[in-house]
Amino acid sequence: MTYLLDSRVTAIVIHYSATPIESDFTAADIDQMHRARGYKEIGYHYFIRKDGTIETGRDLSQAGRFEQGAHSFGENDSSIGICYEGGVRRGAMNLGYDSRTDAQKDAMAGLIADLLERFPGAVVRGHRDMPGAATQCPGFNATAWWDDVLAQASNDGLAQAGASPSPDVSRGLLDDLKALVARHDRA
Ligand SMILES: [Zn+2]
Repeated sequence: MTYLLDSRVTAIVIHYSATPIESDFTAADIDQMHRARGYKEIGYHYFIRKDGTIETGRDLSQAGRFEQGAHSFGENDSSIGICYEGGVRRGAMNLGYDSRTDAQKDAMAGLIADLLERFPGAVVRGHRDMPGAATQCPGFNATAWWDDVLAQASNDGLAQAGASPSPDVSRGLLDDLKALVARHDRA
């Protein structure tokens, strides 16, 4: 296992698992798939199930150091990987899209907010935004989505949602994110 200093982290990278939404997959299933490809274990730090359950992968339990993941080629020593279950449908396995459930969106936004507490300099990126990545993963513009979530939180809830419906996170979560936005604005 390779552990690196938290201060190296510059990005939180969002992925889909490219598994069909009609079936259920757990972090343990992804772990098996990645081992079959020659990884030592699941390459992501977090896996978000369709019901919003967050499962852990690579180790983030140590203070000040993170276990290097295997999810974004060339960027693994400076990023944290979050993967959501899904991203394709049966019969269209090569057509990635944003299949996130509302529960997944809430879980993802809350997890990102927590990670930004620990890695305050990190930016949110989709896998496809990373240098040299030839992929549709995660099927949506992760940076724009996160910016919209923060904008909705800073605009006191869903007043702006009509103009920007894409984030679709719950009112309760937006309230939680307000504190993050306030701290960010002060910085
Ligand atoms: Zn990916």
